[in-house]
Amino acid sequence: MALIVQKYGGTSVGSVDRIQAVAQRVLSTVKAGNSVVVVVSAMGKTTDGLVKLASDISANPSRREMDMLLSTGEQVSIALLSMALQAVGQPAISLTGAQVGIVTEAEHTRARILRIETDRLERHLSEGKVVVVAGFQGISVTEDLEITTLGRGGSDTSAVAIAAALRANFCEIYTDVPGILTTDPRLVPDAQLMPEITCDEMLELASLGAKVLHPRAVEIARNFGVPLVVRSSWTDEPGTWVLSPSPVSRSLEGLELARPVDGVEFDTDQAKVSLLRVPDRPGVAARLFGEIATQSLNVDLIIQSIHEGNTNDIAFTVTKLSLNRAEAVSSAILPALGYHTDPSLDAPDVLVEQQVAKVAIAGAGMIGRPGVAAQMFSTLAAAGINIRMISTSEVKVSCVIAATDCDRAIAALCQTFDVTHSSLPTPAPSHSPTPPLVRGVALDLNQARLAIRHVPDRPGMAATLFQLLADQNISVDMIIQSQRCRVVEGIATRDIAFTVAQLDAEAAKRALEQAAPELGCGEIVVDRDIAKVSIVGAGMVDQPGVAARMFDALANHQINIQMIATSEIKVSCVVTKDQGVQALQVIHAAFGLSGSQKIQVPA
Ligand code: ADP
Ligand code: ASP
Ligand code: MG
Repeated sequence: MALIVQKYGGTSVGSVDRIQAVAQRVLSTVKAGNSVVVVVSAMGKTTDGLVKLASDISANPSRREMDMLLSTGEQVSIALLSMALQAVGQPAISLTGAQVGIVTEAEHTRARILRIETDRLERHLSEGKVVVVAGFQGISVTEDLEITTLGRGGSDTSAVAIAAALRANFCEIYTDVPGILTTDPRLVPDAQLMPEITCDEMLELASLGAKVLHPRAVEIARNFGVPLVVRSSWTDEPGTWVLSPSPVSRSLEGLELARPVDGVEFDTDQAKVSLLRVPDRPGVAARLFGEIATQSLNVDLIIQSIHEGNTNDIAFTVTKLSLNRAEAVSSAILPALGYHTDPSLDAPDVLVEQQVAKVAIAGAGMIGRPGVAAQMFSTLAAAGINIRMISTSEVKVSCVIAATDCDRAIAALCQTFDVTHSSLPTPAPSHSPTPPLVRGVALDLNQARLAIRHVPDRPGMAATLFQLLADQNISVDMIIQSQRCRVVEGIATRDIAFTVAQLDAEAAKRALEQAAPELGCGEIVVDRDIAKVSIVGAGMVDQPGVAARMFDALANHQINIQMIATSEIKVSCVVTKDQGVQALQVIHAAFGLSGSQKIQVPA
């Protein structure tokens, strides 16, 4: 007999018929000899409706009252599902988050789970009841008892956390699609179902816009080794398994506050190539990285910064052995890329730096905690180390620094984050011998781009700027420093650009504007008219040409790339918002991810 946690999303409990269908599925799971805890979301679009009501009353409602309001949606669906179970003869009881004892931080609208009391759950299970728990909500127990919510989409996180706390055999997430697909079937109907995906890949996809799973749910599954499967509540198809590395036994205390960093990594076999002032037009990145791939040179990090005038800077790292060839290819291709039209600028140029190293902090616990990256930057600054290139992913922040600084950087980072660099997380096993180059493609239309002009080029600037944002709880993605130095009033400066959630853009701008004069930084420029499209796949590590194929697909459709950022298992490009969906479609097709069947999403 197994203990199973099943979670049903909004559309799966969106009507009386659907609730009855869910009751039947739960019943048959019990009849097969299992104990079942069910976690449910609010019915259909209830939560959106509640958000709308609040915004009709107030432009800036208090976060506490938002939690009071939004948590009601789930209270309706737990009661109805419990009644539906009782109506078919299955003993059941509904419980709110507070009644279970889902204890969270006191952070309204984005609380993290601290612990889950299991006594009451276990008691009802031992009485033969199905326990129906309200997802997305908890209770904070500091000073007063306060209802909290976990953030939109958070019921997935409730379910996986309960599965971890109860040490359930597995957790099933039931939704309106057959499982995790190569991309959102609402935008690309011939997206294909994948039978499995590693946690690392899913973390990236989820945080890059694939809302089929809440990234924090994947984080908990990964940290506690909870077997997790995503399935359709309309069919009996097996769905998609999310593969975790073998679990290390962790304390359930501070459940979602696990150590932010598991390991410090470094790579001294790196060299950096920068192309300065290349023209800003479709096809440039495709041409450059296409040529590099033809030479079978493996590129690690790639960044392309925002353009001043009509030009871009592109920088990438390769192994030291490949540097000469990478430089030769870059120089040879420069004339073919064409010239920019800004008369105030010098001609395009190639710069190489041979003595660089990459240091990185890694860990699933850094998700949604912007303070962690800022802490890395300030640790490096305190050691007097200047950061040349930054690349971020959900579970890793990498910095390119001078090779001579590498040992000091490792020592300082190990001390700050209390780790030894040998304790790297083991990658999740994949059942397939070679993981696909690209597992999935994601689109995020809810991002904004900020650029800070003329940031003085000295240690500590990134630390100060991103700490400011971290203090406002703003997570930053795709941080890119321009490669080109510009001298402003005798001081060398660089531009720094990054993306944030649109919701945070105004607050980020305000915080930076306040600090800019004192820090000697220039103007803050915001662009909301962007889309971020990303490819994710564990198989792209050490495989030349993957990024080039993505850039090529965009170039073939005359889609201009505004920004590029990569990590080991993802490549993200920023394009204009109105080309976002097309970009997603052409990239999905370019990697041959389309299936022969069209996925129908229930209305
Ligand atoms: P639920 O209410 O069940 O939690 P969500 O709406 O939160 O469901 O998530 C399911 C939706 O996620 C799908 O209907 C689909 O449109 C979207 N989605 C985005 N990317 C993907 C993907 N890669 N695979 C599957 N679904 C995706
Ligand atoms: N009902 C909440 C929301 O719509 C939580 C969830 O569905 O996961 O965001
Ligand atoms: Mg959801």
